[in-house]
Amino acid sequence: MTVYFDHAATNFIDQDVIDFLAKELVNNNYNPAARYTSGIEAAFSIERSVSKIASTLGAKAEEVIITSGATESINTALKGIVFAPNPKHKRILSSSGEHPATTETLKFIEKQLGYTIDYCPLNNQGVVELNQLEEFLIAHDYDLLTLIQVNNVLGSVNPVEKIVKLRNQLRPNLPIHLDAVQSLAKIPFDFENLGIQLASFSLHKIGGPKGSGILLKSEDTRIEPLIHGGGQQNNLRSGTENPAFVATMAYVLEKMQRDFSRNNSHVVELKQHLISQLEQARINYQIISPQDAVPQIVSICFPELRAETLLNILNKEQIEVSIGSACSSKKSERNQVLKQLNLLNNLDQYVIRISLDKNNTKTEINNLVKNVKIALDKYAV
Ligand code: PLP
Repeated sequence: MTVYFDHAATNFIDQDVIDFLAKELVNNNYNPAARYTSGIEAAFSIERSVSKIASTLGAKAEEVIITSGATESINTALKGIVFAPNPKHKRILSSSGEHPATTETLKFIEKQLGYTIDYCPLNNQGVVELNQLEEFLIAHDYDLLTLIQVNNVLGSVNPVEKIVKLRNQLRPNLPIHLDAVQSLAKIPFDFENLGIQLASFSLHKIGGPKGSGILLKSEDTRIEPLIHGGGQQNNLRSGTENPAFVATMAYVLEKMQRDFSRNNSHVVELKQHLISQLEQARINYQIISPQDAVPQIVSICFPELRAETLLNILNKEQIEVSIGSACSSKKSERNQVLKQLNLLNNLDQYVIRISLDKNNTKTEINNLVKNVKIALDKYAV
């Protein structure tokens, strides 16, 4: 049996979710734009599901846009702001700890549309330094501030409340977009309380099917749609909506909310167990994720064995971990987030990411640590 420690890349779909989706696909499969009874019922179903989705995220139903995933949500938010007929400063502020879904979109905006993009550097805790962010905000007028909330490599959490406060003081009209993909099920999320304007999510990270995402957009924020067509979703994202999928998204989010405390306590215990097992085995390791990172994401450095070698050894034993983030780990270049931590002797290349979830057990952790020990005894340099 495979032991899976890469839940930040994607998560399993629980059996009850599969059953729910299957039933919905059979019973709730009409085109919500149709004018006959079955279509009207499908439209009502979407309305109910969107209300539930909104309420789990602390948003209003009118603020929810259903997408194919966070990459589409992020593209819609960033390009949507740039293409909208708002006053333009042709400048965007972001950070150097972002996922490629953001950085590649920003590169496009820079290259094709002549924007200047400023990247606030990360400090040694893997979050943006408020003083530096303040300097950027004082120095320039921006069209958008876009930041990751929970870093996918380190699990570090950007201080969003403080950042919003700073924005309110210095640039009250500047919209903020959050890449909140790794926030869901790890920290509580409340759109209205946060006071941000846009937020992106992918449901497969929390046990929903791939191809389901959300963009939240506050009512007073104007974006231009990326996808034009039949005018669905208030003209902001055309294309026939999938009532069964949207109902399943609501189901998954409500389940996440219900089980939040229990699952988080379990993962906290697992992380403690992992550390105590590493200590007991007298393994030379260093936790790279900061102390206050979410417990689900643990980046660990084993200074005597390259991460890629360790990943391959563990993989042979059917233990799955990642290096860097899954989306960039096929590329051989160094991970940008780890690189910024300035670890001694290029130790960033010795870091693996273990991402934990409710389905992991202490026995699996024991198995992992046992195999890391065997690998180190055999191959450590
Ligand atoms: N942002 C973060 C922080 C992520 O971890 C991911 C996925 O790994 C994405 C964005 C992109 O999500 P998706 O690939 O589901 O579109």
